[in-house]
Amino acid sequence: MTVGIVGAGQLGRMLALAGYPLGLDFLCLDPAADAPAGQVAPLLNGAFTDRALLRELARRCEVVTFDWENVPVESLRAMQRSPHAARIAPPAAALACGQDRVTEKQLFERLGIPTTRWRAVDSHTDLVAALAAVGLPGVLKTRRLGYDGKGQAVVRTRAEAERALVRLGAAPLLYEEWVPFDCEVSVIGARGARGQLAIYPLCGNVHGAGILRITCAPFGRRRWQALAGRYLERVLAHFRYRGILTIEFFVRGDRLIANEMAPRVHNSGHWTIEGAATSQFENHLRAILGLPLGSTRALGHSAMINLIGRIPPRRQLLALPGLHLHDYGKRPRPGRKVGHVTIVEHSAARRDARARRLAAKLAAGARIP
Ligand code: AMP
Repeated sequence: MTVGIVGAGQLGRMLALAGYPLGLDFLCLDPAADAPAGQVAPLLNGAFTDRALLRELARRCEVVTFDWENVPVESLRAMQRSPHAARIAPPAAALACGQDRVTEKQLFERLGIPTTRWRAVDSHTDLVAALAAVGLPGVLKTRRLGYDGKGQAVVRTRAEAERALVRLGAAPLLYEEWVPFDCEVSVIGARGARGQLAIYPLCGNVHGAGILRITCAPFGRRRWQALAGRYLERVLAHFRYRGILTIEFFVRGDRLIANEMAPRVHNSGHWTIEGAATSQFENHLRAILGLPLGSTRALGHSAMINLIGRIPPRRQLLALPGLHLHDYGKRPRPGRKVGHVTIVEHSAARRDARARRLAAKLAAGARIP
């Protein structure tokens, strides 16, 4: 059985590595000849919009998924319309919704999921109105194609907001309130073919310069887990979803405020490879193939630290007891996620202490949540 993956990044690579023990085959599509998943699975090398390659993917695969949230939705729809009528999972509608911060906010509001106060900004007049409605400080973000903190600016004054508009304003924008959060969390869960659910323990996330640095799981209060699970279920049901979905939240007191969703496996779920009974990658595959979902039970207290820019010397990393290294096979570049490490401990206190030391050693540049 062959699973197609549009996008052959590290998420696609980890999907393939999780699928081989289940007897699955993979076929990826990516414009980069040296893409991480292309190093472990056959690769169709070309543009995401290449109709001939999309047809080939549809023809050769039982189901087609994606590992990047900016895959052109039209490419997925073209595969559905092709003579081979590809089965796409998760649904293209969820991808389309998540690609635009405005439709994403509207969905949260419609489903009764608290989110930040926001306004769409397409002009200077809109900006003035948004500042009046939402107030300062705030964040101006591009509606589309933002990731890892790219395409956004924190603004504290009207003058800063106007400068940010000049810098970002070539694209449609969204202005939202700055949330002085206590911490950030994400909830990750799968919905199967018959609507069955498998939701992971909550992840506590630390970002630095907009990039995820550290995730600890299980994390946080029971009430947060219950709330996050309820919100996730609403989005999954809304789309009659199949596969893994992630929602990221800001936490203030006992309130969860949705920041964004990702219709795919997520960086904050990498700990599940060693730290949960079934990894997010395996559960994604099970869900999209109509197989029974696996347990999401935590096997201990995990911390995942992203390796950004370059992989530290392997000998040094592997000398650390119980450390699991994942090297994505990417060329080093400042600010680029090139790998991650995970530790699983018997207690949260030990995990946090060890993660703190490890993060300092790896210069992950962030505090434990
Ligand atoms: P995003 O690309 O929207 O996920 O933003 C990346 C990170 O920037 C978030 O995880 C937060 O750490 C920070 N951030 C983004 N928007 C806000 C906001 N409105 N208030 C506070 N922090 C924010």
